Amino acid sequence: MRQEIALKKLVEYVARKASALTQRYELEDLVAPSIAPLFERSIDKMIVTLVKRNGGLRCNLCDKGPFTKRGMYLHLIRVHAKDIEFMVQEELKKLLEVVRK
Ligand SMILES: [Zn+2]
Repeated sequence: MRQEIALKKLVEYVARKASALTQRYELEDLVAPSIAPLFERSIDKMIVTLVKRNGGLRCNLCDKGPFTKRGMYLHLIRVHAKDIEFMVQEELKKLLEVVRK
């Protein structure tokens, strides 16, 4: 249950960063501090996959847009939360493997 809440907050974190909105949480509060800096870099890569920035914000997954920052955030949360959740889980799995080695 706790993990599910953290995952939701991580999806929000990614969507906010992708839309250039201010964050409501620190990444260090959502994942282990030891992997937070690495995870921040993973998120930057996810954002490149999620959002196109030429001529305003556009969704890279379904090509909708252009959006305002707020509109981009809402689109990602409403339409692509599952996609982002999947990316976050995959990245976390990878990072935890690296940390354990
Ligand atoms: Zn989309």
